[in-house]
Amino acid sequence: MEITEFTQQAKSFLDANLEPKETDKKFVWGEGSDNMSMFEEKSREAEEAMVASAKAWRGKKFDAGFGWITGPREFGGAGLTASHEKAYAAVEANYKVPNQSIFTIGLGMVAPTILAHGSPQAKEKFLRAMWRADIVGCQLFSEPGAGSDLASLQTKAERDGDEWVITGQKVWTSGAHYSDIGEVICRTDPSLPKHKGLTGFLVDMNAPGVEIRPLRQMTGGASFNEVFFNEVHVPDSYRLGDVNSGWGVALTTLMNERAAIGVGSGGGEVSMMTRISAMVRHFELENDALVRDMVANLYINYRVANFNNKRAMDKMKAGQTPGPEMSISKMALVNNQQLLNDLISHVLGAKLQADTGEWGTYAWHQLVLGAPGMRIAGGSDEVMRNIVGERVLGLQKEPGIDSKSPFRELKVGTQKN
Ligand SMILES: Cc1cc2nc3c(=O)[nH]c(=O)nc-3n(C[C@H](O)[C@H](O)[C@H](O)COP(=O)(O)OP(=O)(O)OC[C@H]3O[C@@H](n4cnc5c(N)ncnc54)[C@H](O)[C@@H]3O)c2cc1C
Repeated sequence: MEITEFTQQAKSFLDANLEPKETDKKFVWGEGSDNMSMFEEKSREAEEAMVASAKAWRGKKFDAGFGWITGPREFGGAGLTASHEKAYAAVEANYKVPNQSIFTIGLGMVAPTILAHGSPQAKEKFLRAMWRADIVGCQLFSEPGAGSDLASLQTKAERDGDEWVITGQKVWTSGAHYSDIGEVICRTDPSLPKHKGLTGFLVDMNAPGVEIRPLRQMTGGASFNEVFFNEVHVPDSYRLGDVNSGWGVALTTLMNERAAIGVGSGGGEVSMMTRISAMVRHFELENDALVRDMVANLYINYRVANFNNKRAMDKMKAGQTPGPEMSISKMALVNNQQLLNDLISHVLGAKLQADTGEWGTYAWHQLVLGAPGMRIAGGSDEVMRNIVGERVLGLQKEPGIDSKSPFRELKVGTQKN
C-alpha cells in the first residue's frame, strides 16, 4: 500500500478514536497535570485502570491493522514496511494515546526474542496475543547473585518428559504482577562452562508454583518484584532456542532492551524543554547566568542524543540488529537525566523535598528519585562503558569476574621491593 494512502487511513482511524494532543504552544505553567515520574508509581487500583486502558487501546489499534505494522502476516502482523511504521508513529504522535509503558518489555524485548528463537507453537500462541495486548510479557533474567554477571544465574530447569521443571528465584522483575507470560533464562547443564549451560523458556506467570512478591523502591512505588519458581512445569514447546543455547537468546533480548530503553525520552505530552523553559521563566531565572548555562547544556545534550538515536533507529529500520551503539544511547539517556535532575534541584531547592502544595514543584521528586534506577536497569553505567570501550572504541578488554588476573598470581610476602 502507498504510504500516502496508508497515512490517510491511519489519520481517519485516529480521528475517530482519540482526542488530538494539545500542542506545546498551549502549555501554560500551573495548568493541567504536573505529574512527572520515571516509573509509574501508582496505587494498585490506579495501575489496574491504566493496564485496562492501555490494553483496550492496543487491542483496538491491532484490530484496525495498525498494531504490528511490520510484523509477518502469518502471526497477525500487517506485513508492511518500516516506512509505514514510521509514518504511523508520526501521525499518532499528534493524539492523546493512553499510556503504553506496560508493553515496553513484552513488545520491545520478549516478542522479538520469540520471533527469533521461539518454536512454531510458541510463535502461533503468543505473538498475535502479545501484539493485540491480550497478554503482557515480562523479563525474568536477574537473580540475587546474577545481575551484570548474568551468566552466573542459578535458577534451574530440569527435563521431565515433554516438560521442563523450573526451580529458583528471580529479582527486579518489572511488571511481573500484571504480566501473563515471562521470558526466563535457566541453568540446564551445571557441568558446562557458565555461558554454555543455559536455556531460555517462556513461562506462564499464573502457573502453579509461581509466586510474585512486590519490592518497594525509594520513590514509594512497587513497580518491580521478586519472583519465586517452585517446581513450575513448562512444556518443551515453550523453550526458546536449542537446549544450552540460552546465552544467545538472552543477548537477543538484551540488545533489544537497550534499544527500547535508549530511545525513551520522557517528558510526557509536553516536551521536556517546553516544561523546563516555563519553569525557569515562572521562577524568573531566565537571566541567571548559571541557569541559562544549565538549560543550554541540557538542550545540546538532548539534541546530540536524538541524533545518535536516529542513527541507530535508521540502522534498525534498514533491517540490521541493534548493535553496541545502543549502549551509547542508554548512557546518553542517564547522563541527560542527571543534567535534568541537577537543573530541577538547582531551580526548586527545598521545594523539591517538601510538599508546599505549589503546582509544578514537589511533583518533580518522583522523577528525580526514580532516575538512579535507570543507571542500573538494562545494564549499569559501568557495564555500558565497558561495552562502548571494547566494542565501539576497540579498546583492550576489561578484566572480568572470570579473567585470569596477573594480580591473583601474586603471593603475599614474595614481592620484592
Ligand atoms: C528499575 C529497574 C528495573 C529492572 N527491571 C528488570 C527486569 O524487568 N528484569 C530483570 O531481569 N532485571 C531487571 N532489573 C535488574 C537489572 O538488570 C540489574 O539490576 C542490573 O543488571 C545490575 O545487576 P545487579 O543489581 O545484580 O548489580 P551488580 O551486577 O551486582 O553490580 C553492582 C555494581 O558493580 C558494578 N559492576 C558489575 N560488574 C562490573 C564490571 N564488569 N565492570 C565494572 N563494574 C561492574 C555495577 O556497575 C554496579 O555498580 C531492573 C533493575 C532496575 C534498577
